[in-house]
Amino acid sequence: MITGALLTTYDYDFLTIGGGSGGVRASRFASQYGARVALAEKSALGGTCVNLGCIPKKLMSYAAHFHADFADATGFGWQLGEPKFDWAALMGNKDREIARLNGVYRTTLEQAAVEVLDGHAQIEDAHSVVVNGRRISARFILIATGGHPTRPDFPGSEHGITSDDFFHMDRLPARAVVTGGGYIAVELASILNGLGSKVTLVYRGSRLLRTMDHDLGPYLAAEMVKKGIDIRFDTVIESMHADGAVKRMQLNTKLSCGREIDAECVLFATGRHANTANLGLEKAGIAVRENGSIIVDAQFKTSVDSIYAIGDVIDRVALTPVALAEGMVVAANLFRKGNQGERRLSYENIPTAVFSHPNVATVGMTELEARREYATVQIFKSEFKALKHTLSGSNERTLMKLVVDAGSDRVLGLHMVGPDAGELVQGFAVALQCQATKAQFDATIGIHPTLAEEFVSMRTPV
Ligand code: NDP
Repeated sequence: MITGALLTTYDYDFLTIGGGSGGVRASRFASQYGARVALAEKSALGGTCVNLGCIPKKLMSYAAHFHADFADATGFGWQLGEPKFDWAALMGNKDREIARLNGVYRTTLEQAAVEVLDGHAQIEDAHSVVVNGRRISARFILIATGGHPTRPDFPGSEHGITSDDFFHMDRLPARAVVTGGGYIAVELASILNGLGSKVTLVYRGSRLLRTMDHDLGPYLAAEMVKKGIDIRFDTVIESMHADGAVKRMQLNTKLSCGREIDAECVLFATGRHANTANLGLEKAGIAVRENGSIIVDAQFKTSVDSIYAIGDVIDRVALTPVALAEGMVVAANLFRKGNQGERRLSYENIPTAVFSHPNVATVGMTELEARREYATVQIFKSEFKALKHTLSGSNERTLMKLVVDAGSDRVLGLHMVGPDAGELVQGFAVALQCQATKAQFDATIGIHPTLAEEFVSMRTPV
């Protein structure tokens, strides 16, 4: 907390660079705590999540799910004509919703008395920033500039697109190649497949979502293959050239070299990079890692005392709710009145969902992490066909897994591949946050018939 007398020396108490989830949340809270706040954003408010990530992706994922829903419906007696999909209608509706959200963000900031500065901000020194040629001083500066998708470097890679371009494609490609094995690759491959593209997923490794529990990736891959996606593991695109609308790729796999594949669209989902270019970091003396992300301490302070950073630009956990939480910690520690002690953020038990088809969601430790830390680990696993698919004719299956410390009986990890996994795991994340034991899971009455009841019904360790 800082004193009122010091606040008057600068144009603002708090100047945020970046109007994405983290920056907006930190600014609003700082203002509520009594600080005079400005926020600089050079593009649309809402950042990656609203404009080029979570929101358009989830809307498009809903659109893609109808494909399976129409097929499932016939088993329940519905007779449908041949469904037709209109890409332009989806994109138009999606763009309108995003424009609405951009407006909501601006109104929210205005109502919170945060001044929005539309323009690129460059840091001059520990307390000043230049926006649109105007030098502005602030007691504290927050960098919340997010990240952007990277592109692999190989001959012809300029013909590929990234997730940023994906959300503005003018038509649905008949054939698409997606490369990568992380969140974005499996989500966008699933969307394209659901909407009707013929999709090949090219991944240099052998297990999708390799940072998650080792059972999830192979299970998801098998389900994606059942839905019609061709997955090539241990494979990279070596080169590519464009012949009109068609891109011809030379693939190189560990097993066989030189396969060729043609597609209208090649989408790179090969990771993201911190947005730190042209920010004046060097001039201000802000330390960065080799990959360009900003180094911060437990309080999100950079190597310069008055400058903080949160969200994707610090490359800790690139998730919207984490950036929100980081932003609130910074605002509270700098501006909350009264001696309420320093707030810190725990990165344990962060639940996360991947909106692939089917969804994947997880909270807590993977089996391998638990085995490294605990002497006796019990695994409970259930793999089944959901009730819905007894009539739908779909061959989709669901996986649920619990990781338990046998010593304390604590549930350490909870993992799922299946419909609405994100909705379901969010609730169980509260249980893990409360350090729930397996006995407490067992004592919880299930809701029947649901998928979720399986998490409180597994009795025999595997
Ligand atoms: P990820 O880091 O999750 O995955 C990147 C993938 O690209 C990995 O499979 C990696 O392979 C592969 N790769 C990296 N470089 C190359 C290369 N040169 N050639 C071929 N393949 C390469 O990144 P994403 O871009 O998918 O997502 C970034 C982050 O954004 C996520 O980690 C997540 O935090 C967040 N996000 C969250 C979402 C959600 O909450 N639902 C949705 C989308 C993104 P390898 O495995 O071998 O390293």
